[in-house]
Amino acid sequence: MILLDGKIISEQVKVEIAQEVENIKKQGGKVPHLVAILVGHDGGSETYVANKEKSCTQVGFKSTVLRFEDTVTEAKLLYEINLLNNNPDVDGFIVQMPLPKHISEQKITEAIDPKKDVDGFHPLNVGRMTIGMPAYISATPDGIIELLRRYKIETSGKHCVVLGRSNIVGRPISNLLSLKGYPGDCTVTVCHSRTKNIPEITRTADILIVALGQAEYVTADMVKEGAVVIDVGINRIKSDATKSGWKLLGDVKFDEVAPKCSYITPVPGGVGLLTIVSLLKNTLKAAKKEIYG
Ligand code: NDP
Repeated sequence: MILLDGKIISEQVKVEIAQEVENIKKQGGKVPHLVAILVGHDGGSETYVANKEKSCTQVGFKSTVLRFEDTVTEAKLLYEINLLNNNPDVDGFIVQMPLPKHISEQKITEAIDPKKDVDGFHPLNVGRMTIGMPAYISATPDGIIELLRRYKIETSGKHCVVLGRSNIVGRPISNLLSLKGYPGDCTVTVCHSRTKNIPEITRTADILIVALGQAEYVTADMVKEGAVVIDVGINRIKSDATKSGWKLLGDVKFDEVAPKCSYITPVPGGVGLLTIVSLLKNTLKAAKKEIYG
């Protein structure tokens, strides 16, 4: 069994990005600039944005955070987005979700110029990705693809079972893995809460991707010998054994499933660590105008 190590891969990718930034600087170019819009004081969002800023600094990007109180109006946010869309100094920007209830997340997402949509949530980027055109791919599916690529995992002709059909994980990754070329060419089955006989289906998976939000849902009897298992789930569970009183569990019962696998991701330390790296990759692509020219 080989561990798909998100820490090692994310460090590798960051070193490669930092090298590219150095080259841009040497040639007298502008360093990539990522802006994050943060509304309110949600703890999770604050942490995520702080990690983004730290990662930007590590690779030599310019990073700006625009903060707004949670009383900010939708009109004001749309106005700010328009300014960022038209600011040539900004290569890419994200609006940290969730937003307060009075603001339409869909309206905000659609207001972002797809050329600067480094989160890859704009319908144009989602649509382009779906038909295999160059697009900004959102962080979690891109992180999974990065792991498959870096560990040179064979995907062609494999049966990939995806548990979960959310717009941010299950749907995009099932789409990407069914596209032509590497890493793709899979035969993909997508399962959700209405699917019957899930264990019967998962036992036929060469590659099993689990994104349910159900702690330790996948047990050893649900996994084929030699399967590749990618656990996207992050579940915060109460625990007396930790100082914080919480522990993180994936959607896969790691201890009993791991011995059956050829490759498996740990939680934490797997897919999650690659999400910020994906954002950095997209920002570099935006600065180099790789997707839209
Ligand atoms: P959602 O809640 O949006 O989607 C969950 C999906 O799982 C739905 O399609 C749902 O089916 C399906 N589902 C839930 N329970 C069952 C069940 N018992 N049997 C069958 N299907 C079920 O979750 P997300 O996709 O946003 O996230 C999934 C997990 O991944 C979470 O733990 C989340 O924290 C984690 N995550 C991790 C990330 C990372 O960076 N590693 C990034 C994003 C998410 P239906 O559609 O029918 O309701």
